[in-house]
Amino acid sequence: MQPETTRDQHGRPLGVLRLSLTARCNLVCPYCLPDGQEPPGLLSSAQRLAVIDAAVALGVSSLRLTGGEPLLHSGLEALIAATQPLRQRGLREVALTSNGTLLSLERARALKAAGLDRLTLSLDGANGASVAQMAGLANTAAGERSLQQVLAAIEHARVAGFDPGHGALKLNAVIQRGANDDQLLPLAELARAHGVELRLIEFMDVGNRNGWRPDAVLSAAEMVERLSVRWPLDPLGRPQHGTASRWRYRDGGGQLAVVASISNPFCGDCNRLRVTADGIAYTCLFAEPSSGLDLRPWLQADTPPGDLTAAIAALWQRRSDRYSEERQNLMQQTTAANAPRHAEMAYLGG
Ligand code: SAM
Ligand code: SF4
Repeated sequence: MQPETTRDQHGRPLGVLRLSLTARCNLVCPYCLPDGQEPPGLLSSAQRLAVIDAAVALGVSSLRLTGGEPLLHSGLEALIAATQPLRQRGLREVALTSNGTLLSLERARALKAAGLDRLTLSLDGANGASVAQMAGLANTAAGERSLQQVLAAIEHARVAGFDPGHGALKLNAVIQRGANDDQLLPLAELARAHGVELRLIEFMDVGNRNGWRPDAVLSAAEMVERLSVRWPLDPLGRPQHGTASRWRYRDGGGQLAVVASISNPFCGDCNRLRVTADGIAYTCLFAEPSSGLDLRPWLQADTPPGDLTAAIAALWQRRSDRYSEERQNLMQQTTAANAPRHAEMAYLGG
């Protein structure tokens, strides 16, 4: 039976759960800057499953597992397998975002066998120096190793059955003006050569430590403009509730997507709930840390069934945030003293 749709103050339905499994990462991308350690009070697998179950009861049809780096979590495959019965209650897809450096062929096969539908790998450069800079690695050689690991991961994923032709395998790249914007064309070339869709993401002001400035954002429009000089592109639009606007290479070289969270926000139909590895629920990627709802009181062994679902429903129903649409106005009123605090990316999971 399909669950009833839960709607927020702007009529937005709850549709996607992004669940972070760990705040740790094996990379230190300067635009994300994870802590390198877990917060206290990590959720158990049973608690995570309870959160997913409650979200599905409220209308979530898409689950994305993320981090930190989710491949560092040893219970990943078991959790994916445990979600499979929820397909009968409305769960339609389980996806994973990973930096790909730890994805062996064996692991890709295990993820597929557990029931993972889609895999997005992240790569911000097409040469060792750029990968090193964007992943916070010590030198070009380390960047080159990381690049080769991700390229191997793309092939492992394909061999394991994640078909990029059906959208089951994609590549994410954050583009930061003055840092890796020279990688736009090389990354597009690389993605085209591997037959995977590249999703170009504007550098976002998530967290408080990445030194974000508006002038470090290369807008999605400018990315498309630069790419279309080399490969003409036709627009395919942004699907409802989607984050990415899609484009098709006119020469038949596949598709490209851009995520314009800063320059062209999509708060109006945002349907995503985020839950951190320690069970704090956020309704916005740019949320103040204190605005999160700690779900752990409803995740204790003696909590009556249904209470967690009611707590998440109430959180969603009172949701009114649309930070990205309000950013411009907020920034005009902001001084160093009253600047908004944001929850950190490695907790929220993107
Ligand atoms: N470690 C995994 C990875 O990198 O794919 C999953 C977690 S990561 C936080 C999820 C996505 O968020 C990645 O594609 C990453 O590039 C993106 N991301 C992180 N910080 C960002 C920022 N400040 N602006 C835009 N995207 C960001
Ligand atoms: Fe790690 Fe992903 Fe953050 Fe990079 S973006 S530091 S890979 S969690």
